[in-house]
Amino acid sequence: MNGDAVKVPVTVAYGDGIGPEIMNASLKIMAAAGSCLDIDTIEIGEKVYNRGVAAGIESSAWESLRRTKVFYKAPITTPQGGGFKSLNVTTRKTLGLYANIRPVMAYSPFVATKHPGMDVVIVRENEEDLYAGIEHRQTDEVFQCLKLITRPGCEKIVGYAFEYARLNNRQKVTCFTKDNIMKMTDGLFHKVFDEIAAEYPDIEADHKIIDIGAAMLADTPEKFDVIVTPNLYGDIISDIAAQIAGSVGLAGSANIGETCSMFEAIHGSAPDIAGKGVANPSGLLLAGVMMLVHIGQSEVAERIHNAWLRTIEDGIHTGDIYTDAVSKQRVNTNAFADAVIERLGQQPQTFAAVHYAAATHREPVTRKYVPKPPAKKELVGIDIFLNWQDRNPADLGTKLQTMEGDGLKLVMISNRGQKVWPNGLPETFCTDHWRCRFMAAQQDGTITRNQVIHLLQRLDSADFDFIKSEHLCTFDGVLGFSVAQGQ
Ligand code: NAD
Repeated sequence: MNGDAVKVPVTVAYGDGIGPEIMNASLKIMAAAGSCLDIDTIEIGEKVYNRGVAAGIESSAWESLRRTKVFYKAPITTPQGGGFKSLNVTTRKTLGLYANIRPVMAYSPFVATKHPGMDVVIVRENEEDLYAGIEHRQTDEVFQCLKLITRPGCEKIVGYAFEYARLNNRQKVTCFTKDNIMKMTDGLFHKVFDEIAAEYPDIEADHKIIDIGAAMLADTPEKFDVIVTPNLYGDIISDIAAQIAGSVGLAGSANIGETCSMFEAIHGSAPDIAGKGVANPSGLLLAGVMMLVHIGQSEVAERIHNAWLRTIEDGIHTGDIYTDAVSKQRVNTNAFADAVIERLGQQPQTFAAVHYAAATHREPVTRKYVPKPPAKKELVGIDIFLNWQDRNPADLGTKLQTMEGDGLKLVMISNRGQKVWPNGLPETFCTDHWRCRFMAAQQDGTITRNQVIHLLQRLDSADFDFIKSEHLCTFDGVLGFSVAQGQ
């Protein structure tokens, strides 16, 4: 270590299972490579959950994270059963870690893979989508989870993906959404992608519907370079990508926010091999390399990454990637760490060496969000959701028509999004959950919130069990709501 260098404060958690073994190995390599870290250790995971802390992290730990703003985290064991919150989701949201970056590479021929040319970076939105965690049981039969996609969220993540591509000499960014079905939420993500792509003419931009996109990624990953996608799709495809690269134990990930960041391996605490000293520390180590780049210790990061590549090439392998055909030596966690340390300063011979230390290497800066002037928003109707046991939509339509008046007209009833009134088909399966759309009686007219309140009062007096309502607005004349299937 350079004695004059300023130590960078980092919060470290050793986690559960193999966590302490691989964290010790990674920190040993980083120290030998000359990293300058001022480490503050916090406890997270099983022990904290077992003390009755539902989030798996003590409030004092947040003080450390807010102070250092950098979290190097080993995997934890998530307790089974209800009542516990995901520590990862809590950490990402609390610290505003909006971007999850997962580089996935094949290390052929030294690590077996069906896709030797694979070199993909998945940039997953990390805070929004179905992970907002807003779920309700609305009726006996129906449960809902709200999918929230925001313009600031889309702009930040798509902006990050293009900046990442440019700064890392990547040629192409592909967006995965399902906007043929979710036209408004995923549609916004795709629209923002197109807007921001236009600012990066040097980078190829492409969009794929997530289903065919995921299939192509599994089949021909070499067609992809950087992929940007909403939270749930990103969660799924990043595990598929890591698996097919043959390297679940080798991949690290960065969770990046405007002020804070978290770095971890993608695998879990591997309780089946915990305590045996045989775990592969590579995923956590490569996450540590990303951290070192992030905190400005790029030279150290480069030295470690190249030594690690050389170790893999030299056939020094932990049990999870050991094969008689290519491996030369089967080593435990500690011996692997020592092998990397021995190779510090060496370059890989077969793999391309990494170059973080170049003066030009920079990290993406969070795109500044500039709110657009508010649109002209007009209330034109209301969707009222009813819990109604009778399965006959025609009956419900007739009853609800008696609630019309005061400038409001019933225009449609749907069940699970399928229009069932007027002119529904008897074949359509119905649950006890009905969406009843009232619009301004006058063509293209608007309504007031007071009219909504009076309608709800009339429904209440008639003993309709309304469970939720959703305002129907136009924004600068554009519909801010979807029409029902079949409407
Ligand atoms: P896992 O990733 O821990 O293990 C899956 C398989 O891969 C196991 O056979 C394991 O031995 C092997 N493996 C994983 N990492 C390895 C390594 N570094 N070296 C060698 N082999 C390795 O997944 P799981 O068994 O589904 O989950 C175990 C626990 O980890 C669960 O409690 C889960 O909730 C938790 N988990 C935590 C995180 C995290 O903290 N970020 C992520 C995923 C799972």
